[in-house]
Amino acid sequence: MTLDVQFMPGPEFAAAADRDDPFAGFRDRFHIPQIPAGGDAVYFTGNSLGLQPRTAREYINAELDDWARLGVEGHLHAHHPWLPYHEFVTGSLARLVGAKPIEVVAMNSLTVNLHLLMVSFYRPTPERCKIVIEKGAFPSDQYAVESQIKVWSSAFRRLSGEVGPAKAGTPNDGTPSLIELTPRDGEATLRTEDILELIEREGESIALILLGGVNYYTGQAFDMAAITEVGHSKGCVVGFDLAHAAGNLELKLHDWDVDFAAWCSYKYLNSGPGGIAGIFVHERHARSFDLPRFAGWWGHDKATRFLMGPEFVPLAGAEGWQLSNPPIFQLAALRASLEIFDEATMPRLRAKSERLTCYLEYLLGQIATDRIEVITPADPQQRGCQLSIRVRDADKQIFDAITARGVFADWREPDVIRVAPVPLYNSFSDVFRFSEVIGEALR
Ligand SMILES: *Cc1c(COP(=O)(O)O)cnc(C)c1O
Repeated sequence: MTLDVQFMPGPEFAAAADRDDPFAGFRDRFHIPQIPAGGDAVYFTGNSLGLQPRTAREYINAELDDWARLGVEGHLHAHHPWLPYHEFVTGSLARLVGAKPIEVVAMNSLTVNLHLLMVSFYRPTPERCKIVIEKGAFPSDQYAVESQIKVWSSAFRRLSGEVGPAKAGTPNDGTPSLIELTPRDGEATLRTEDILELIEREGESIALILLGGVNYYTGQAFDMAAITEVGHSKGCVVGFDLAHAAGNLELKLHDWDVDFAAWCSYKYLNSGPGGIAGIFVHERHARSFDLPRFAGWWGHDKATRFLMGPEFVPLAGAEGWQLSNPPIFQLAALRASLEIFDEATMPRLRAKSERLTCYLEYLLGQIATDRIEVITPADPQQRGCQLSIRVRDADKQIFDAITARGVFADWREPDVIRVAPVPLYNSFSDVFRFSEVIGEALR
């Protein structure tokens, strides 16, 4: 633990920490699920579905009202006109991920966006055709990447006369394939040195490195700056899936020189179930109009979009990857949430988050048992707010017992309970209560 904080075991510490917490008031801006007996649940699943900002309903209702009042005219005359509506969240998204406004846009959902970005940024050749992901990546990412590889493999086979096999002496057989980063024997998470060493060793054959910013299962945060730097030095394209990083970590995508990124907004970003996702494309690529891409009218130059011409003229920057006109109700909910992030700001949120998670780790350490083990890295730099608790013998009864006591956590097969104290709306007292409940379940 590197934080300069002295934690104490009793409930008084939690109460005092909550009194001193500059974010304590933010909790009231969210609807906290209630337990049947009355009172707030301990909601530690903001990494799965963030809570509803109290303003979300009002913002969605405003759009319903404008639709009722104006019909199609709402595109131009709604209080927040629908035509440029996605632009209302661009500034906030840029601040959130450390980007310039031209580098981000809200659109679609996460897996869709991963595919759209791979169409542009996974361009294998027989010499350089592999993709690197983490073993145990989120299944949707695994499926997306494998299906992209299949599309290319079959194209290579069909075109084999023209493309030709890999040149003799190149480090692969010219077939697009996957490299999965795997922890060392007996270890649960990856070592940065091992990730960088693999890229150094195999980089010439790697077309794309696509890792999670934070792994959904272990809670491990990767060193995105170092991975990007080494990847680029070997000529690889580097992208990140920030589903578990956006709204959780301080990100500096522009400065880190990341090529592209995508994230969903219903986890830490509290935009509601199925909420509209976001992408980042580095400014370097903003005018790379020769990049292959799947096109749709919303990615077309705004000045001439409604001339409805036959030729696609892409917008510069991330907006040029849009396909369809966006879902306004989802954008309204996202606006409600991002306003709160703008007020809180990520550096301050992150400071509380580190303290909250270290406190959770400390209290778990006070429980005298060998039946649980935290597999998330102990170094705050290598994690976000989530801790993943491995349960010995995959004893799911412990999870069932804490659930019955009003704790929202989740069970991930085969043997992990994930808990995410979220700095915007979770308190030190939540963490204390959780430690009591799991302590009892273990006794
Ligand atoms: C949550 C999550 C997803 C979910 O994908 P959707 O397209 O939003 O359903 C994908 N990848 C990762 C890493 C996730 O954490």
